Amino acid sequence: MFRTLLIANRGEIACRIARTAHRMGMRTIAVYSEADRDALHVQSCDEAVCIGPADARESYLKIPNIIAAAQRTGSDAVHPGYGFLSENAAFAQAVIDAGLIWVGPPPAAINSMGSKSGAKAILEPAGVPMVPGYHGDNQDPDFLLSKAEEIGFPVLIKAVSGGGGRGMRIVENADDFVKLLETAQREALGAFGDPTVLLEKYLQRPRHVEVQVFADSHGQVVHLFERDCSIQRRHQKVIEEAPAPGLSNQTSAAIGQAAVNAASAIDYVGAGTCEFLMDADQNFYFIEMNTRLQVEHPVTEWITDTDLVEWQLRVAAGEPLPLSQADIRLHGHAIEVRLYAEDPSRGFLPQTGKLEVLKFPEHDGFVRVDTGVVQGDVVSPHYDPMIAKLVVRGENRAQAVARLRSALADTQIAGVTTNRAFLHAVARHPSFADGDVHTHFIEQHGADLNVTLPNPSDEVVAAAVLALLDQRRAEAETRAARTADPYSPWNSTQGWRLNERIHETVELDWDEQRYTIEVAYNGSEYHMTLPTSPANTRVVHREPGRLGVEIAGRRFNVGVHVEGSAISVMARRGTYRFAVHDPGTAAMGQDASGGKLTAPMPGKVTKVHVEVGAKVKKGAALLTLEAMKMEHTITAPADGAVSTLRFGEGDQVDEGVELVAFEAG
Ligand code: ADP
Repeated sequence: MFRTLLIANRGEIACRIARTAHRMGMRTIAVYSEADRDALHVQSCDEAVCIGPADARESYLKIPNIIAAAQRTGSDAVHPGYGFLSENAAFAQAVIDAGLIWVGPPPAAINSMGSKSGAKAILEPAGVPMVPGYHGDNQDPDFLLSKAEEIGFPVLIKAVSGGGGRGMRIVENADDFVKLLETAQREALGAFGDPTVLLEKYLQRPRHVEVQVFADSHGQVVHLFERDCSIQRRHQKVIEEAPAPGLSNQTSAAIGQAAVNAASAIDYVGAGTCEFLMDADQNFYFIEMNTRLQVEHPVTEWITDTDLVEWQLRVAAGEPLPLSQADIRLHGHAIEVRLYAEDPSRGFLPQTGKLEVLKFPEHDGFVRVDTGVVQGDVVSPHYDPMIAKLVVRGENRAQAVARLRSALADTQIAGVTTNRAFLHAVARHPSFADGDVHTHFIEQHGADLNVTLPNPSDEVVAAAVLALLDQRRAEAETRAARTADPYSPWNSTQGWRLNERIHETVELDWDEQRYTIEVAYNGSEYHMTLPTSPANTRVVHREPGRLGVEIAGRRFNVGVHVEGSAISVMARRGTYRFAVHDPGTAAMGQDASGGKLTAPMPGKVTKVHVEVGAKVKKGAALLTLEAMKMEHTITAPADGAVSTLRFGEGDQVDEGVELVAFEAG
């Protein structure tokens, strides 16, 4: 076994790989961009090398810099993780050419599966079932349209080099075909440098079922059962589980065998995943093969009691697979959710910001948290906005679902909008509990999964006010400790003058509403005019980030955090972030002029659809922005004219900057 492993990745996957490598006695080398200087993955490794600036193209995707880092540190092997260069055959070859061990499949296998159409051309003759479609070379729009008509609408246009759900368009009828073909090709060219597309019959409400395969360099190929990854938004997975609920033993065996056949057909070595769509009758159709470890590998590890990173390292070192097919046993059920910095109520738009609070449930034998960030870190626009993977297991699916609910309830995040409450709503949904999962689950149950926070309850408002008063009290105590006269009334730890029944008005803003709370302190309790009724409140217990609050004789515990003039209260339904209203600074930063269209996130302008002076109808596309793996089109808010275009195609923009000035009318 080799001694030194360079991990050519960042975030949770780099931390995950380092964990196993350390357990196996290896020396680990991290690489990092300038933006990741203090990141957890850098601290998780024995050594680390800076490979360039924040922009991934100049660092994590820069092959020569990574090879140089491996050579400088005397590394023996390189693990690519997933994403970035993990499915880049040129990188695999460069690693091998540098005399290093590549922890991944042979470059030829990466190449042959790298194109979805190429993969189909190889695997169809090997008897792997395919979705009906066209995956040939002819890219002429009229020809593709005629193929789409043959297949029958709805049809799915897919980038052959695509991934992460990008470069994909559903076409409902022939009239829309050419326009959507053009947008799919543009997105594919921008994201993957290849505009080639294929066509597939668009299946209604399929399930996404995939199989973990593993092969060694001695000709042994096995599968480690299937995973269901049907709960998706924008064709991207958010919840994955193993085994797939409700599959007959016969189907499970058949899909496993199909995946083994696929891997055998391409002389595969290492970890790989064959992805299939499954219809209501459990017929399955191959869509693609990913030639790397997947984000969702922990659920497979838990039901098979394996460490797939260890398997990868052993196979790369030339060892045989640790287990034969007959020895790979399935036990229990595991579910993973991906916690993202994103706003479910705004189309899952990626979010950035500081993780002021980040608390996970205790790691134990039933809950596992894979993360690459800690409290205080910033989710930046440079990389994937995933914060963590929360994985639970149980003896059976019902137990795993119940644990998922409590693990999500016990996760506290403040400072950045996340999908935590959304995931919790899915976990609580009766159809999810029934295992009735399919790729349209989120659309179908959209109304039930609505996580718009209700107005804060009296308890939440009381907790916010108590957290604020507690913070002031702590500050006063610190001041008192520092001054010569700790008995000065100005340093009263109650924050008010002595011997008086004190009154104060606290004004909190939340979701464009102001909550005005009159607070009176009587020496032991605070009397507050809460939104629905007045009540006596007090703090009965305090620990960092958490208050035990008594309100009108009832007691509850709640996570709180005060940062600057923002107070976060982490309720079960979600995090309420109040702004303390300070009349002195109100009115600032208001933009009363209207008519400005601003960037909802930092990104790159990929298309300008209009010219200055253009007269457009409400809803017309003005400009398209790509950021954090997503295209976002800015549309006209009303009928009117474009008065100024501030940016051109290819320009980088910051969040909040004005993109287009628009005059309605
Ligand atoms: P990517 O590589 O971009 O992730 P995939 O081919 O793996 O793209 O597909 C991603 C998801 O898109 C699938 O899990 C499924 O939800 C949906 N999808 C893909 N192909 C089809 C299809 N032919 N019919 C219906 N849904 C599909």
